[in-house]
Amino acid sequence: MDIVLFGIQGSGKGTQAKKLCADLGYRLFEAGGELRKIAASGTELGDTVKSYIDAGHLVPFDVIMNVVKGVVCDPSDKRPFIFDGIPRDVDQMRAFDEMMRDCKRDFRAIEITVNEEAAMRRILGRAKTEGRADDANEESIRRRMKLFHEKTEPVIAAYRAAGKVTDVDGEGSVDEVYRHVKNAVA
Ligand code: AMP
Repeated sequence: MDIVLFGIQGSGKGTQAKKLCADLGYRLFEAGGELRKIAASGTELGDTVKSYIDAGHLVPFDVIMNVVKGVVCDPSDKRPFIFDGIPRDVDQMRAFDEMMRDCKRDFRAIEITVNEEAAMRRILGRAKTEGRADDANEESIRRRMKLFHEKTEPVIAAYRAAGKVTDVDGEGSVDEVYRHVKNAVA
């Protein structure tokens, strides 16, 4: 069974996703990471993608859906996926659900919940070590948090109504949160 991880920016979702992969053999699909690779490619598409990421806007639907389809529908790797950063709005959710049905994959979702101001401090700290332009100023982070509330929360609500979501408290140390995440996956 695949896992879709949800959580506002700075919830520690990326860290938890990597721990699940290392510990339980999941395969990671990190939407932002895949898009940052394209942004760094030096192509015309890369420049376009970079401009969306730097502004804190969602990259166009076709770009992200083509990337995820290319990876997920590869039948040669049997490991279950952790999806981090997708689906991010209701249009993506519809396409994602259809893709999963077509590829005969099933998933559960986990939402990691945190206090928003604590999340903001975490991101500003991360910007210093990872050098991400989109993390360096509060305005861009607030815009992405707003996008999460407006666009991604309706996706979580729909999955919740379908009984697919487990909530995990994201406050606490990385290892404490991981214990809860692991329980949710078991
Ligand atoms: P993240 O690393 O998840 O914070 O994503 C960084 C940036 O990549 C976002 O602010 C968007 O510009 C872009 N991005 C990530 N995932 C998606 C997605 N599913 N759809 C569109 N854009 C995305």
